[in-house]
Amino acid sequence: MKKQYAFDLVVVGGGTAGAFSAIAAARSGVRTAVVEKNSYLGGMATGSGLTEMNAAGFQSAPLYQGIEKELFDAMIEAGCAEYHFAVPMSSNPDVKIDRLRYNPEMLKVLLEEKAVESGVTLFYDTELDTAREEENGCVLTAHSPYEEMEFSCRYLIDGTGNADLIRKLGGETIKTEAENQLVATLMFRISHVDLEKLDAFIHSADLKAAIAEGYESGILKGKILAFTPIPGSQDVSLNVTRAKFDYEDAEATSAGLVEARSQILPVFEFVKKRVPGLEESYISNIAPMIGVRDGRRIQARYMLTLEDLDQMVSFPDDIACGCYPMDIHDPVTNSVIWKILPGVYHIPYRSLQPVGLHRVLAAGKCLGAEKKAFAAIRVMPIMMNVGESAGYAVALALREGKKLDELAAEELTAYLKEKYNG
Ligand SMILES: Cc1cc2nc3c(=O)[nH]c(=O)nc-3n(C[C@H](O)[C@H](O)[C@H](O)COP(=O)(O)OP(=O)(O)OC[C@H]3O[C@@H](n4cnc5c(N)ncnc54)[C@H](O)[C@@H]3O)c2cc1C
Repeated sequence: MKKQYAFDLVVVGGGTAGAFSAIAAARSGVRTAVVEKNSYLGGMATGSGLTEMNAAGFQSAPLYQGIEKELFDAMIEAGCAEYHFAVPMSSNPDVKIDRLRYNPEMLKVLLEEKAVESGVTLFYDTELDTAREEENGCVLTAHSPYEEMEFSCRYLIDGTGNADLIRKLGGETIKTEAENQLVATLMFRISHVDLEKLDAFIHSADLKAAIAEGYESGILKGKILAFTPIPGSQDVSLNVTRAKFDYEDAEATSAGLVEARSQILPVFEFVKKRVPGLEESYISNIAPMIGVRDGRRIQARYMLTLEDLDQMVSFPDDIACGCYPMDIHDPVTNSVIWKILPGVYHIPYRSLQPVGLHRVLAAGKCLGAEKKAFAAIRVMPIMMNVGESAGYAVALALREGKKLDELAAEELTAYLKEKYNG
């Protein structure tokens, strides 16, 4: 017998975007639940060892408003985050990005506090099984290790990062063929680092020389060696391992994890000897999940293109913005391919709407974007902005008694303006 629940909105996947959708909707009076297979919110932002919100600012000033700004400010206030402007990327120092560095463990706590305070009902360790859309609402089933559940709701948000929900609803999705998928990375953290010495090294030409040396000797599997100091600590996270596998093939993914984990000790021995400031350091954490950059995207009412971003096209239904360049972790050349974009670009609401479905939105990296546009917009601050706006769109649809594809561009953008600007 399935346990029965009723909500206005169920967000499947309380990750980087989904958590923001849930908080935004709940604060707007929507009875909201999150079904999350992990035992914490934040997804990649908290579980994969990442410590840097890329392009959280534009031209050395914070870019985002709303709950995103509120959360970033709270983290800065708590001493667990700080802005760093125009930081060069290790894979190409000519590319400089405004970032918010943060402690992911603290983000877990603060995000959850905000969700609970906002009235979101959390279902952790709960995984989606089936979903269907009906004329007046949706039904989904899920399970925890101990229970089977059935949720009825008016609206759904797919925050799974891989369009799992929309696929189960019968929506069309697009997957990059395995050999062209962006490479994955298992992040790890080292402690007891002399940050001053490391900082001088990161900003010197010696970083490039060390990458070339490490890559030529076969220790580094890609031309990247990214160190991120974690605010409020002497810890540094490393984005360096590389693995190529089809993320939907369990056996291949497990082999990829083994491959990435096997790179960590050789890399650590290399950097400990080669990089100033790491002499006394030790490995203090290996991320519990591997970071899969690629993912299924939905066939949306509008498929965002790189040209849209490059030309900073303004859509009548703009719901989010970003300024991160295209960044392809190329499986063929083992390099990172960059295309710098000229300014702040936009994401339309139609890119969150799966063709043929009416009561569900894709928040997060599974939204409808072509491959090269995806490689730019997938970063966390943009996904948070998309997630938050998706939550507000549901609130507006509920208030107006409409389906999600019945919202007019003008009414939605006016409502978002009110929400973001108070
Ligand atoms: C290696 C790597 C490095 C990166 N580096 C950076 C960086 O430095 N800075 C930056 O800004 N961005 C970076 N990114 C990009 C960024 O982290 C992600 O694109 C972004 O976090 C995606 O957000 P999301 O909400 O779409 O997905 P996620 O954060 O992955 O959230 C998806 C959530 O859905 C849950 N879920 C999935 N399926 C189900 C299901 N069936 N049932 C229930 N729950 C489910 C998951 O557990 C997860 O919590 C990086 C990504 C990778 C992989």
